[in-house]
Amino acid sequence: MKLDSSSAKNEVIKLTQELVRIKSVNPPGDELPAAELLAQRLKKYGLETEVVEVGKNRANVVAVLKGREERPALMFNGHLDVVPIGERETWQRDPFSGDIVENKIWGRGASDMKGGIAAMSVAAGLLATRGGLKGDLYVTAFAGEESDSIGAKHYVEHNSLEGIGSIIIPESTSLDIVVAEKGTLWLEFETYGKSAHSTQPHIGINAVEHMLTLLQMVKSAWEAIPYVPDRYLSPPTMNIATINGGIKTNSIPDRCVATVDLRPVPNQSHDLILSRMGEVIEEVKRKVPNFRAEMRVINERQPVATDEREEIVKVAKELGSSIVGRDLGLFGVNFYTDAAIFAIKRKIPTIILGPGEYDLKNNIYLGHQPNEYVKIENLEKATMLYLAIAERMLKLT
Ligand SMILES: [Zn+2]
Repeated sequence: MKLDSSSAKNEVIKLTQELVRIKSVNPPGDELPAAELLAQRLKKYGLETEVVEVGKNRANVVAVLKGREERPALMFNGHLDVVPIGERETWQRDPFSGDIVENKIWGRGASDMKGGIAAMSVAAGLLATRGGLKGDLYVTAFAGEESDSIGAKHYVEHNSLEGIGSIIIPESTSLDIVVAEKGTLWLEFETYGKSAHSTQPHIGINAVEHMLTLLQMVKSAWEAIPYVPDRYLSPPTMNIATINGGIKTNSIPDRCVATVDLRPVPNQSHDLILSRMGEVIEEVKRKVPNFRAEMRVINERQPVATDEREEIVKVAKELGSSIVGRDLGLFGVNFYTDAAIFAIKRKIPTIILGPGEYDLKNNIYLGHQPNEYVKIENLEKATMLYLAIAERMLKLT
């Protein structure tokens, strides 16, 4: 199937609708049918395409348009899973209909990010008809981004990422450019005490009280860790998220577990934060008799900080202003994407740029809500912008 610019317009709409109609809701994911549909299309467009199973009914799509390897490769990377719909009554129409209403495609995942996947895939299809690439173009769509990043982790375990010069992730940005993501550290603290009847606190050790002391000190230590304010991100944050301890009211609790969500900015080293938190446990031990605690890292994501002087940022901004028809802004986001998984292996200049809805200027994010949609106009612009960026970065002329 040879795409041209007029058939591409219909194709990007059709492919978005077809992907939205496949329920790849995470949990559990079930991305395999969506992966198969996408792989079929990419093959038709002329890309070498593979479906890589990463779990039961879960799969990645990995496709490539080969170039002469005279230039670093460019990768488009999306995710095939979507978040649950929530309460059905909050939706004005069937969340998996893919209906077109008022020039928008409706449905769960239209914006985050099946519209983006369709746009990057059709752009690759258009590039395939032009030939003469100096570098490879990779098109990848992974499973599990909305939870444990099972697909991205599988990919970085089995691929070196050597030769990839830049990455575009078509998450919703209303076609603006995201160049920074905060890091993430989820810590679990556990304190151990000794149970006794509640009327005899002198013979017990209260694990909940010890946890309260520990968390106070963790909080002050976190607030004292120095950082340089990031141009694109809000200051670092800490959320004491869960706390569980004790079994009954008339017993001294012998165990307490709490989890804490830290979001450092890119110039704060995770290793440094972790060693500071380890020291805090030692400090409490010196202050509080019988104090015993452990700390575990239960989730870690590397930050993303792409220098605005990188070619991918400059090219996207320059081509964006003519194709989108306005100056594209540069922003940061406080959450993580699969860019954080790539960053474990190699720091590759990455931008997040997609057709879905996210008003970054006012920080109004429409993803993960009912009545999700993507504007057809933005889908078309994204397709043409991805094509132009890939042509500029990979093509002979
Ligand atoms: Zn997403």
